Amino acid sequence: TTQAEKHGFQTEVKQLLHLMIHSLYSNKEIFLRELVSNASDAADKLRFKALEDNELFENDADLHVRVSVNKDANTITVSDNGIGMTRDEVMANLGTIAKSGTKEFISQLSGDQSKDSKLIGQFGVGFYSAFIVADSVTVRTRAAGADTTHGVEWKSDGDGEFTVADIEKTTRGSDIILHLKDDAKEYADEWKLRQIINTYSDHLSIPVQMWKEPTEESEGPDGEKVEAQPGQWETINSGQALWTRDKDSISDEDYKEFYKTVAHDFEDPLLWSHNKVEGKHEYTSLLYIPKRAPWDLWNRDSQKGIKLYVQRVFIMDDAEQFMPTYLRFVKGLIDSNDLPLNVSREILQDNRVTRSMRSASTKKVLSMLSKLAKRDADQYGEFWDNFGQVLKEGPAEDQGNGEKVASLLRFTSTHEDSAKQRVGLDDYIGRMAENQEKIYYIVADSYEAAKNNPALEIFRKKGIEVLLMSDRIDEWLMNHLHEYEGKSFQSVTRGDLDLGDMDNEEAKKAQEESEKAFAGTVERFEKALGEQVKNVRVTHRLTDSPACIVTDENDMSTQMAKLMEAAGQ
Ligand code: ADP
Ligand code: MG
Repeated sequence: TTQAEKHGFQTEVKQLLHLMIHSLYSNKEIFLRELVSNASDAADKLRFKALEDNELFENDADLHVRVSVNKDANTITVSDNGIGMTRDEVMANLGTIAKSGTKEFISQLSGDQSKDSKLIGQFGVGFYSAFIVADSVTVRTRAAGADTTHGVEWKSDGDGEFTVADIEKTTRGSDIILHLKDDAKEYADEWKLRQIINTYSDHLSIPVQMWKEPTEESEGPDGEKVEAQPGQWETINSGQALWTRDKDSISDEDYKEFYKTVAHDFEDPLLWSHNKVEGKHEYTSLLYIPKRAPWDLWNRDSQKGIKLYVQRVFIMDDAEQFMPTYLRFVKGLIDSNDLPLNVSREILQDNRVTRSMRSASTKKVLSMLSKLAKRDADQYGEFWDNFGQVLKEGPAEDQGNGEKVASLLRFTSTHEDSAKQRVGLDDYIGRMAENQEKIYYIVADSYEAAKNNPALEIFRKKGIEVLLMSDRIDEWLMNHLHEYEGKSFQSVTRGDLDLGDMDNEEAKKAQEESEKAFAGTVERFEKALGEQVKNVRVTHRLTDSPACIVTDENDMSTQMAKLMEAAGQ
């Protein structure tokens, strides 16, 4: 062992550690899920790398995770014979947080324990969760293929500093040794650990093992002889990847627990769908829709939640090729039988198999949502409040499914007296009068502004429903949404409105008369406003207000103009 070198944690790590220890106080046991899941990831990574270089197995391809307890020393050890880490990797992985947006994330934490614990849960607490139960953590690791003298020992008390030293380590992989805090001694208990592993790690494909003490020869319940057993490592999880199991053998609880591990979420998922597809392409997909929007949903580059497996071998996280950006909140995995094991992101990008799985998975998610909308409008409403804004990116991104996405959209409207977006286009069409041909809408800065816009007066008077839109993305959405069920969309602040009564001779005459009567007024307005307006005209649209601003059919709307101005154009 060389002299240990002292280092300070990155500021974000210190902050996260502090917040985590305080807000996850009542969720302590997740530390084991995180450490076992890291060990399982390490095994996956080794298996994948060894496809190219079998030497990395060092004649030991029997991958496993072992959890043991030392009651006297008050420690728990989680050991794996996976990929291990080099000194550089230890420094990078266990001293910093590489995730983008970490600063923003930390600034969102409020100090409210229950809110923060949910946020932190979604962020993924990972390795640092060890410090929820430990007052000192030691990591002893050696990278697969490295010389036994190139082991590394990392140590920290979680208070801002850690040390790193070179060590000799004969076994490949990592041992994570936790020295338990006084208030976490209950975890130095085999049965407790077994129970936690059964809850959180049962579905992992890697065997999770615990030591079973030797037994003496004894007598069974029916007087028969029971052989003495030597001490041995016993596998305590079922050890079969959940998605490869028969659907009938998987309980809702199993699906929920699996979701929590893949999605790093504390809450149950809203919906899931498990599909085994055979035929031209063979694959299994397990797709989840979370209950709550993640803290970085707005970031279009934020990581996507689909993991790619090929023939049960883990290939990559964030396989963004399998889900369009507007469905980036979907979590889960796809396990393909057709892709090559050495598949790279580049190969995925332009690949027939990828395209076909993506298209089928997209349709799957849209149909899950559409079923939910039909089955339970309230629950769908909650989904909409969380993810609706992102779904509104759909019509622009995915014209092929435009109609389907449109049917999932929800708006506020003049029909309801609520700022909650609950009106679907099908509801709207169902209420349309027989001779109404268009779907009317207005986009404004806020719900209040939309609702009180004078342009709505004539619609209210005639009993025609208008969709009220005021989200930032609405203008963009309406640029891409042209038709639904054969009905076109018409902004009520654009162009000349034809509400279907202009062929009425009387109305036409009345309009002409008022145009004549107000010719002088119009001229004075034009003079006063000059260059600021394109023209001024007499309207039949208003019933209570004296004037309103409209744009020409093909001109930029006032909303769009404001957006462009805000963007410095
Ligand atoms: P995540 O698992 O989401 O990447 P973690 O905080 O759990 O984040 O772990 C950080 C990183 O540390 C991992 O990405 C991995 O590179 C490394 N790591 C943690 N545990 C192990 C392990 N047992 N073997 C090898 N690498 C590990
Ligand atoms: Mg992890």
